[in-house]
Amino acid sequence: MESGKPKNSEGILARREKKLAFLLLSPTFLLVVGIVLFPLFANFWISFKPISLADLRPPTILIKERIKGKLEQPGEIIRIEYRYRNSSMKYPLADVVFEDKLPKSVEVLDISQNCSVEELSDAKIFKCVLGNIAPKGRGKITLNVFAEVPLKYFDIRLGNKCNQKCRMCGPGDSSLWLDDWVKMGNTKIDFYDDKYEIKQTGNRFSSMIGDWNKEPFVEQLLNNMHNIDRIYMTGGEPTVIKEYWAILQYAIDNDYAKNINLEYNSNMFVIPTNAWDIWSKFKRVRMTMSIDGLQDVQDYIRFPSKWPVIDANIRRFYELTKQHPNISATIAPTITIYNVMQMPDMVKWYTNNKFETFDPVMALHICHGPRFLTVQNYPKAHKHKIVDKYNELFNWCNDNLEQGLAEHIIKKYQGVVDFALEKDIETEVTNGKEWTNKHSFLQHTEKLDSIRNQSLATSIPDLYEAVQDYE
Ligand code: SF4
Repeated sequence: MESGKPKNSEGILARREKKLAFLLLSPTFLLVVGIVLFPLFANFWISFKPISLADLRPPTILIKERIKGKLEQPGEIIRIEYRYRNSSMKYPLADVVFEDKLPKSVEVLDISQNCSVEELSDAKIFKCVLGNIAPKGRGKITLNVFAEVPLKYFDIRLGNKCNQKCRMCGPGDSSLWLDDWVKMGNTKIDFYDDKYEIKQTGNRFSSMIGDWNKEPFVEQLLNNMHNIDRIYMTGGEPTVIKEYWAILQYAIDNDYAKNINLEYNSNMFVIPTNAWDIWSKFKRVRMTMSIDGLQDVQDYIRFPSKWPVIDANIRRFYELTKQHPNISATIAPTITIYNVMQMPDMVKWYTNNKFETFDPVMALHICHGPRFLTVQNYPKAHKHKIVDKYNELFNWCNDNLEQGLAEHIIKKYQGVVDFALEKDIETEVTNGKEWTNKHSFLQHTEKLDSIRNQSLATSIPDLYEAVQDYE
């Protein structure tokens, strides 16, 4: 049986019709709200709102930045585009400068004339002077940058300041040499392609070869200290170049020292008292000691070396290596005509001292220039003495040292003998001069002896006697 409630008379079709009618009318409603009602309410609101000068927006520069590429690997290049426009349709902009902060680890490749990059401690500031921009004016700046390859190894030579003036060296490498260079009659430093003038201020001589601004190099090194795992220092003499100590102190103060391997060439003449403590803080220290002989031979070649000071510093460094296994050393003589005959004695001295933490065999540099100071210029009539002296060393090695060590020394020092015998050059003309190597040696030695109040006859008598028999 059906109930008495009136049945909903709207069918499905009527309801759909209704919905469609509302849908068709909605644009009209929206237009009325947007065009009539919204401005009406806005005008009503504005008429009550207090208006100040700050509400008048000044024209400004609008910049959109777009980056093309991804910095995922060191060395990858990306392109940054800055599109700018004057926001005003009516007013120009004057003296517009635009700046962006870039990550410190990116390197900018190409910069247009009116742009620059400033290095900060934690970032790089890219800056462009855009000047005046007309109403509606717009433009584009593009920039190519790449992710920096981290600098891990610095091989650095901070000038030529040195506290020795070794006979085979010169004013290019040693500031102390300059006075003697002038006393020898030179007015320029001319053994490089560039000729360096020598300036005199009172009694002091100086040259641009050593007097240059080291600050940018030091700054670059400090900025990269977080990446560095190896620093190799030479000079001049690194222990007397104050910037080196500042670099090491910075590494200690900022907790980088424990990650850094230090390598040195040092003449071991003047070691600052705090050096021993500084070195002990680094991950690893490798000292190559430039010492060319024992006693008088060392002091003659490496003026104003004092053998007792050198000997004491070698031994002190040895003690340091015993306390700190991260520190190691070797001695590396430079073999010249002056010390070739003493070298076998030095090898024995080194071996007999049993510097257990040092390399078992001294490193070896054979001097190749100046040519008149090489062992090839040893008087021909006396070269057989070199052969005899080294054969005597080799026999001593075989009799006193374990086989591996003896073989190592013999192989190394046989190279010195071979080089000495390879050529006789005493009558050969010295490069670029009118006289022979024999004359160049005698002249160089006599002049320096007189300037330094030294004597070849007293310090190295066997060489003095031998050169009397130059051909
Ligand atoms: S210590 Fe080195 S830089 Fe100094 S004079 Fe000797 S060789 Fe030259």
